[in-house]
Amino acid sequence: MRGIAGNSAMNGPGNDIIDDLKTVLEFYQALGVEGIPLHLTSAGRIDQGNGDKERLLSELRNEIGDCVRCKLSKNRNSIVFGEGKPGAKIMFIGEGPGREEDMQGRPFVGEAGMLLTKLIEKMSVGGVGLKRDDVYIANIVKCRPPMNRDPEEDEVTKCRGFIERQIEIIHPEVIITLGRIALQTLLKRPDLKITAVRGNFFDYNGIPVMPTFHPAYLLRNPKDKWLTWSDAQKVMERLAGRD
Ligand code: SF4
Repeated sequence: MRGIAGNSAMNGPGNDIIDDLKTVLEFYQALGVEGIPLHLTSAGRIDQGNGDKERLLSELRNEIGDCVRCKLSKNRNSIVFGEGKPGAKIMFIGEGPGREEDMQGRPFVGEAGMLLTKLIEKMSVGGVGLKRDDVYIANIVKCRPPMNRDPEEDEVTKCRGFIERQIEIIHPEVIITLGRIALQTLLKRPDLKITAVRGNFFDYNGIPVMPTFHPAYLLRNPKDKWLTWSDAQKVMERLAGRD
């Protein structure tokens, strides 16, 4: 660990952090540690490797436990945490599990889920076709709302910290929200209408968010599938620009 220059001559709000970091690095150097398996991104964020992301996701799942923090716990069969690649570039977020998801404990596995899988498998990043395992899929609430109703405000309030932490851990390059509820809840923008804003990027803590239709809507309105495909193409273009 060479090249740790002093910063006392520098002026700026980051000096204290840099000095603290220098002290920590010198401490590890004194212990004979040659390197630390972390790197700082251009934004200064500590970026975890995939193994760390997997571990952090597992810890979060353990923390959720057999959750009874909201009334959705009463009728659920399974907590549907989410699944996919911890280091995924794309994260899909829906509103909550449906009947099939509740039975299987996995997100988007019913008819709507099959349509989502087809969409993912049509996509590519850097010329390489995607598989479902290459992305991460989760919901705003982890337990099925009865009769597939919209999650209520108190339920979202209790559960949203979990999806926020999943996003923080995975830190995808793009989030695709599926349907109105996921979009409005994630961005805390109840004014957003999916038909008006889909296809336009929004921002969630520095991560681009592409709103598109929920696959269940597309099953009822197949004529709009091309709009979701167009939204997915914008995501692919965005990712291609970063490679
Ligand atoms: S929806 Fe979320 S907060 Fe409510 S019981 Fe399930 S995991 Fe807990």
